[in-house]
Amino acid sequence: MNYEHVTKEQLTKELKEVQQLVTTFKGQQTECKQAKKAAANLGKVNQELLAEIAKYKKIGKDLQKRYDMEREQRVLLEKERGERLQFINTLAHELKTPLTAIVASGGLLLEELREDPQSLRLRLMENIIRGTERLTGRLSELLDMARMESIGFTLTYELLDIRTLLQNVASEIMPLMSEKQQSLILSIPPSVPMINGDKQHLEQIMLNLLTNASKFAGDGAKIKGIVKSEGDRVLVHIKDNGSGITEEEQARIFTPYYRIEADRQRFPGLGLGLTVSKHLIEMHGGKMWVDSTVGEGSTFSFSLPVAEQEKPRNLL
Ligand code: ADP
Repeated sequence: MNYEHVTKEQLTKELKEVQQLVTTFKGQQTECKQAKKAAANLGKVNQELLAEIAKYKKIGKDLQKRYDMEREQRVLLEKERGERLQFINTLAHELKTPLTAIVASGGLLLEELREDPQSLRLRLMENIIRGTERLTGRLSELLDMARMESIGFTLTYELLDIRTLLQNVASEIMPLMSEKQQSLILSIPPSVPMINGDKQHLEQIMLNLLTNASKFAGDGAKIKGIVKSEGDRVLVHIKDNGSGITEEEQARIFTPYYRIEADRQRFPGLGLGLTVSKHLIEMHGGKMWVDSTVGEGSTFSFSLPVAEQEKPRNLL
């Protein structure tokens, strides 16, 4: 370029343009540096991410391995449980068969011995019979438990008046309660709707609750059997004035084999009665629960749905 004819203004203008270019270049240089730094950071983050992914993949593999092992163990346990239940079932049946014969023969012998009410033999025979009856009861509970956990119960439904069932069971247990100077009062309304249920099992449940009341509430206890009808349910309450059950224990007594520590040594039992009873009530579409206050007593209750036939037309 020939600068002789260049004016001062032109020179100033060009100088400005050059300065502008230098500033732009410097800006681009900074941006480039920043971009390089960001790229280096990204690379680092990327590597960290890859390491994390590898770590999680390993954890995933470990989890899968453990899951497979647990599944295998579950299958094994299930098999063992089945075999154990089968064993309990067979054993209880094997023991029950000769016991039935002993109870039957013992009953006949007892009748003969009753001719002499003072005889020592009579008392001994009564002890034997009581013992065998207890044994039969325990074996029945074991059989029920095995049945509940494996094949399940088969219920035979029929229309029932729960009041009659409670009365039947009450007269069965009354002699046992009298021996302990206990009173049993039934509070039964003149009529309640019929329910659909299995007679034998419902009687077994009520007998179990009354036996527990008599067993745990002690000599001289006052026991009540109450029947009520509430909406589309029939309720049964078995109330005693025994020592009561703490809230913590109330939550546990419906689980298999659980017995309150203080009762384990003092009373016979397997801790299965309430578990089986609750299960059977639930199979009927009902509920079972306990209300208890320490020092005042316990009330075991269950509710059963009123039979469909009994519901008024407009409720159906
Ligand atoms: P079992 O009578 O064979 O011990 P259950 O399942 O019927 O088994 O009862 C479980 C436990 O609940 C009993 O061992 C006892 O500790 C407690 N229990 C049951 N009924 C009563 C009751 N009416 N009063 C106080 N405790 C009770």
